[in-house]
Amino acid sequence: MSAPDLLDRVLSDLRACRICRDAPLDLPPLPHEPRPVIQASATARLCIAGQAPGTRVHASGQPFTDPSGVRLRHWLGLDESVFYDASKVAIVPMGHCFPGLDAKGGDKPPRRECAPIWRPRVFAALPAVELVLAIGRYAQAWHLGRDAGANLSQTVANWRATLERPDRPRILPLPHPSWRNNSWLKRNPWFEDELVPVLRQEVARLVG
Ligand code: SF4
Repeated sequence: MSAPDLLDRVLSDLRACRICRDAPLDLPPLPHEPRPVIQASATARLCIAGQAPGTRVHASGQPFTDPSGVRLRHWLGLDESVFYDASKVAIVPMGHCFPGLDAKGGDKPPRRECAPIWRPRVFAALPAVELVLAIGRYAQAWHLGRDAGANLSQTVANWRATLERPDRPRILPLPHPSWRNNSWLKRNPWFEDELVPVLRQEVARLVG
C-alpha cells in the first residue's frame, strides 16, 4: 500500500473513533461527541505534536484556531496559509479529541486512551517527517521517553542536546504557547532569544 493510501486509511479510522465515548479505559466517558482533530499528509516534513484540542478547536475542528495558535505561528515564523498546508505541516496532538474541562475551568489532560492506540499508526503513515516539535510535557514524555527531563523546564532547557540526538525524526521540545505559560516565558527569556531563532531556521528549511 502506498504511503498516501495508508495515511488515508488511518485518518478514516481515526475520524470515526469513539473509544473515549463508548469504551473508555479507566476514565469517565467523554461527556460530548468525539471530534478527532488532526492535520497530516504523507509529504509533510514538519510535525507539530501538540496536547489536545480546547473548546475553540473542538468547535472549529481545525488545530490551533485559538490564541495559542497565534503565538505558535509567531514562534515558527509561519503565516496561516503555510501552517495549515497539510502537504508541508502535520499537526498530531497527543489526544485528538477535546477532553473536557476540569473543576477550575482548565482543559483536562489528553485522554490516556488516545496516544497508545493512534500514535504508532499515524506516525507509521508519515514517512517524510524529519522534525517533531514536542509541545508540552505529554508530547515530550511520549517522544523523548527516558530522555525527557524531570519537568518541562528541564526538558526544554536541554533542547540543543535533544535536537542533536541521532534518532530520526529529530525532536525539538517546546513549552505550550498558551497564555498559561506567560510567566514561564518571562522567567526563561533564553527561550525566545536562543531557541526560537533556531526553530525558525529549521522550520523555514523544512517547509521551504
Ligand atoms: S480522544 Fe482519541 S481515542 Fe479518544 S475518542 Fe478521540 S480519537 Fe478516539
